[in-house]
Amino acid sequence: MFRRIVLAVTIVLAATSLVYSQQKHPHLEFVLKNKTYRGKVVSQENSKTLLMLGDGQMKMIDTKEIVKIRELTKPFKRFSAVEVKFQLAKEFGSRYEVVGKTHYLVVAPKGRAKKYVEVFEDIFSSFRSYLSVRNISTHSPEFPLVAIVFQDQKSFAKYAMKEQVKSAGIVGYYHPFSNRVALYESSRKISSLDKSDLEFTPDIFARHANSSTLKDTIVHETTHQVAYNIGLHSRTGSTPKWVVEGMATLFEAPGIHHRSRGGTGMKKLNREMFTRLVKNLNHGIDQSLSLRRLVSYDSMFRSRTIDAYSQAWALNYFLMEKHSKEYSRYLKLLAKNNSNKLYDSKHRLADFENTFGNKIDEFQQHFIAFHTTLARKYLGRKSVTTRNNKKNFVSTNVKDSKKQRLKDNKKHSRKRHHRTRTRTRTRTRTRTRTRTRTRTRTRTRTRTRRRSNRRHRDNGSNTRNRN
Ligand SMILES: [Zn+2]
Repeated sequence: MFRRIVLAVTIVLAATSLVYSQQKHPHLEFVLKNKTYRGKVVSQENSKTLLMLGDGQMKMIDTKEIVKIRELTKPFKRFSAVEVKFQLAKEFGSRYEVVGKTHYLVVAPKGRAKKYVEVFEDIFSSFRSYLSVRNISTHSPEFPLVAIVFQDQKSFAKYAMKEQVKSAGIVGYYHPFSNRVALYESSRKISSLDKSDLEFTPDIFARHANSSTLKDTIVHETTHQVAYNIGLHSRTGSTPKWVVEGMATLFEAPGIHHRSRGGTGMKKLNREMFTRLVKNLNHGIDQSLSLRRLVSYDSMFRSRTIDAYSQAWALNYFLMEKHSKEYSRYLKLLAKNNSNKLYDSKHRLADFENTFGNKIDEFQQHFIAFHTTLARKYLGRKSVTTRNNKKNFVSTNVKDSKKQRLKDNKKHSRKRHHRTRTRTRTRTRTRTRTRTRTRTRTRTRTRTRRRSNRRHRDNGSNTRNRN
């Protein structure tokens, strides 16, 4: 019996590849044991077929589940917003309403979807214009963007389970397969959330201190969704996590996501991420936090979650401010990679170094210098000490580091004499400096602790999206 099914599937798949040669994206119907899907094949690897449905959702189909495949006479066509709206109304029932605007269809409890759709749409256009100012090319979304705002955690959890997302401890997510953002209102209702909630106050610390998780979640998850739909990331390829999360945390800063206020200077910084970065700069960026590791692997997001988010934000901010032309090229290169094959560390690093034209460790020196200047500008001259500067510069490899050490020693022995002579004169000044430094450090530590606690409360930060 089993053998007969396998044989049937093989024949059908062979027929599918015949169809491929005549038509690039045939409209196919996959009949499974319990369900039927219609769409176009995005990729076919090993025993998995990735199918794009008319509403923009993707389904991964295991060959074992297929009973029959047939080609449909009508070519594949994406659903119109009206068709998707109708489908959503049917899926979510009478307790919810669906309201649409230019790019968005928002499902929310009755009477509240209209206000939410304005917020989602506003983030969409702010993000796109932020990118266009930096000459980062984008395109219009192929499908209507769907966001679902559940009334309570229970309904959210039930829905997340259907998408195979573990909802414990998370307040929202974007799923590249369903292409939907899902979140819940928690204790804050839309009645108290209007557009002004997404604006910054003169003191951006206050925005964080009083912020509700709802608006932060909306900005973060919507940025993911928009980025995946306007050609910045590929929904089928593997984009490095530092690019995806860095982009979303970058846009969390009120001076960036609220374009009408023309965010400048400090308002463009993600305060929480920046504070963490300053702390790390003071401790020294060692191997475990190096850009080499961040660019080559995603593992930092598992082992040092908050630091990884902070480094990803800092790198994205640096690239957007100083290297937007190259970053645009790099994003295009990543978006082209739409195969679900592993994007290994060697290629990740090579692509980065080729695009930005620097060895990563050299690049890290510019990155540290840029953020040290920012910290001194906005947090005071002594916010980043020079004590760990040497630690911050990670050498390219052991050979290079040995060479460097020998060079340093030569310089050091030449200068030693001079240093001995001046030591007595500078001692008093050093003592005063140490006292100020301790005070700054204590202040930064308390602030960082407070903020990191808040981030944990938010949703554990690493679970906000599912990439
Ligand atoms: Zn995220």
